[in-house]
Amino acid sequence: MRVLKFGGSSVESAENIEKVVSIVKKKSKEDKLAVVVSALRGVTDMLIAAGTAASKSEESYKELLSEIENRHLAEVRKLIPIAGQSSVLSQVKKILNDLENTCEGVFLIGELSAKTLDKIMSKGELLSSYIISEKMKSDGLNASLKDSRDLIKTDARFGKASVDFETTNLRAWQYFNQASDITVLPGFVGSSESGETTTLGRGGSDYTAAIIAGALNADELEIWTDVSGMMTADPRLVIQAYPIEQISYGEAFELSHFGAKVIYPPTIQPVLEKKIPVWVKNTFAPDDSGTLIHENGQSNGKDTMVKGISSIDKIALLSLEGSGMVGVPGFSKRLFESLAHQNVNVILITQSSSEHSICVAINDADVIKAKTAIDSEFAYEISVKKVDPVMIERDLSIVALIGDKMKNHAGVSGKMFSALGRNGVNIRAIAQGSSEKNISTVINQKDVKKALNVIHEAFFETPTKQLNLFIAGVGNVGGKLLDQLGKQVKFLNEELRLNVRVVGLANSKRMVFDDEGICLESWKEQLANGQNMSLSEFAKHVKAKNMRNSVFVDNSASEEVAGVYKDYLKNSISVVTCNKIAAASEYQNYRSLKLAAMDHNVSFLFETNVGAGLPIIGTLNDMVRSGDRVRKIEAVLSGSLNFIFNNFKAEVSFDEIVRQAQAEGYTEPDPRIDLTGTDVKRKILILIRESGVAMEMDDIETVPFMPADCLEGTVDDFFEKLKEHKQVFDDLYKVAETKGEKLKFVASYDNGKASVGLRSVAPDHPLYKLDGKDNIVLFTTDRYHDQPLIVKGAGAGADVTASGIFADIIKTVL
Ligand code: ADP
Ligand code: ASP
Ligand code: MG
Repeated sequence: MRVLKFGGSSVESAENIEKVVSIVKKKSKEDKLAVVVSALRGVTDMLIAAGTAASKSEESYKELLSEIENRHLAEVRKLIPIAGQSSVLSQVKKILNDLENTCEGVFLIGELSAKTLDKIMSKGELLSSYIISEKMKSDGLNASLKDSRDLIKTDARFGKASVDFETTNLRAWQYFNQASDITVLPGFVGSSESGETTTLGRGGSDYTAAIIAGALNADELEIWTDVSGMMTADPRLVIQAYPIEQISYGEAFELSHFGAKVIYPPTIQPVLEKKIPVWVKNTFAPDDSGTLIHENGQSNGKDTMVKGISSIDKIALLSLEGSGMVGVPGFSKRLFESLAHQNVNVILITQSSSEHSICVAINDADVIKAKTAIDSEFAYEISVKKVDPVMIERDLSIVALIGDKMKNHAGVSGKMFSALGRNGVNIRAIAQGSSEKNISTVINQKDVKKALNVIHEAFFETPTKQLNLFIAGVGNVGGKLLDQLGKQVKFLNEELRLNVRVVGLANSKRMVFDDEGICLESWKEQLANGQNMSLSEFAKHVKAKNMRNSVFVDNSASEEVAGVYKDYLKNSISVVTCNKIAAASEYQNYRSLKLAAMDHNVSFLFETNVGAGLPIIGTLNDMVRSGDRVRKIEAVLSGSLNFIFNNFKAEVSFDEIVRQAQAEGYTEPDPRIDLTGTDVKRKILILIRESGVAMEMDDIETVPFMPADCLEGTVDDFFEKLKEHKQVFDDLYKVAETKGEKLKFVASYDNGKASVGLRSVAPDHPLYKLDGKDNIVLFTTDRYHDQPLIVKGAGAGADVTASGIFADIIKTVL
């Protein structure tokens, strides 16, 4: 046996009722069903409005009644085939006439009792259940209608009657013993002992269904509504809310009690007692999995300690304070009793540990009677100034965080309060249920939406960081970087929760911007169609966009570009560069860039300045930051020079090998830039500075190996000179070879002194075995004193350089 309940929106229109019937049809093939329905959406409100208007002798009640009539008659005409319509229409009219008579009576006597209002409200469900049962019959289903008032017996507290479970369970059991496959029942309604119509409270159709499910010990209760389950928050207030897979009875109760309208709170009781699983499903998306409410409420694997957030508006806070309360027993008892006598529901209580004050949250509607009750209860204490008159704060809301497992986790409330604090939400009072299923805060009503959203973000949304890149230079290295970025976008998003976008892109001629991210497959075309490039215009765009986590990436070797870093850093934009010019400029400039980055909480990273993608500077930084001290650095840092000296053998002359290196692109067009060691000097300078030593380029000694006249004249003159001095180079080679050594262009730093130059290296030295374009760095430090720490590998090439820049870019946000 299964009980299905369809809410107001599920039965709002003929179109929706068709959906309901198709769900019922499918389910009825598997099981016997009880189908509980609400009134058509909005009808209960209209009935209350009609009754209220009539009681105030306002004729407008008639318009409301005719609107109600038209809606129902129109539904019948759409749902029931013409042949069967007249009998259904006449039965509907009979119910409507009855309603009209009651309202007329109210109009005449000018009074609306709770009893009469129940009679009026019940018509909504009586009409909908009748029409739906007839629709099912006309569709050939074995359905019948049963008036819930015959089954659900209650006391005579009209408007929110209490159920007599003993009688109800028995009646339901007897009836369903011989019921047809499908029984349609009106939700919300019951009857008192004397047979008067009662109702179960607004939203009470859920309760009806649970009462029937409990009475019959049903296998399942299904609450069909207009959302795909109980959600992490009210979806009307938090767009990011999503359905909770599984939830315990206790959690579901707390969530609904604190405002999650999707289930009427008393619904939980009858199903909890019998441990009947409850599904909350979406009539408009029946294949969505929905929420399962059951005993332990844990989903497999993916389980969260916080299940949901809900809120109640229109709250008032009453505070009773006074020195006379301290240490005197019975104050709270008297306070709560006085409220109970007035039927004031206390939603939340906090008491200061000094017992100096008690604070209760109640519905705003109860404020006047609550204040009067408390002030009169404590009239004596107030008169002798032991207690102050009750203080009232209004326009407040309660926001509650719910989850069974919160009690096992430290820091939940801290996270909640800091999320609120960061966003300027002032907390008026806090309460944590002793079961620790619930942490509630009282805040200003105007802050509720913001509060729900920031708490939701803190607990339920995996934050994805946005990384906005502005890239200058799309040559060899830049092009490779864009390729690599394009390939990694998905991975970064899924694994690092990083959403990387290239927002700006420029070469020396053009620049292009796209806030949503330039397409990394068609960037060439986009850039070709871009606007004219100027460094200052580019910077202006970057700054104006003011995007969080912005990074300026310099893939050029331009001095002009290196000159704009400070401006970016000062505007809280990180700088990542493979361009050595800035880090090797005057110490003062290098230092001021580092400081600017620190002051503005951004990064200035240039790992690729030394050894391309090799983790040299990063390793050095890690050592220095952890307190190590660099004593000595020895390094081969030039791929070009390594190529030249690796290939310089007895059989080839030096000028030929340099020419080959130049032709194959291993050297600068003017190979002297490499051969004089200027580039290597910059690299060792950067390592020395990153070790914490203030040094200038000129402090580094160059030990020349070429005769001075090689440096004069044009590149062609240079090659001529190399030929002329063939013997000098051959001798260098021979001396090394006879000792079994190799020539290496080495940069070194040793206790404050730095130099670069050609060295003959013995086979047992770590620098000896170095192939191709490889670079190597040996760090001897206080901690690595016996054996140096060695970083070695390909130290040049667009691919590895691009990947080094890539790594630096990611470091700016991690
Ligand atoms: P029905 O008419 O089916 O009884 P209700 O309007 O009573 O439906 O309840 C469903 C509505 O409850 C949803 O449309 C949603 O706007 C609201 N709601 C509030 N809080 C929640 C929540 N935590 N999860 C799901 N729905 C919620
Ligand atoms: N129709 C009733 C109401 O609107 C009961 C329900 O829909 O659950 O409160
Ligand atoms: Mg409801």
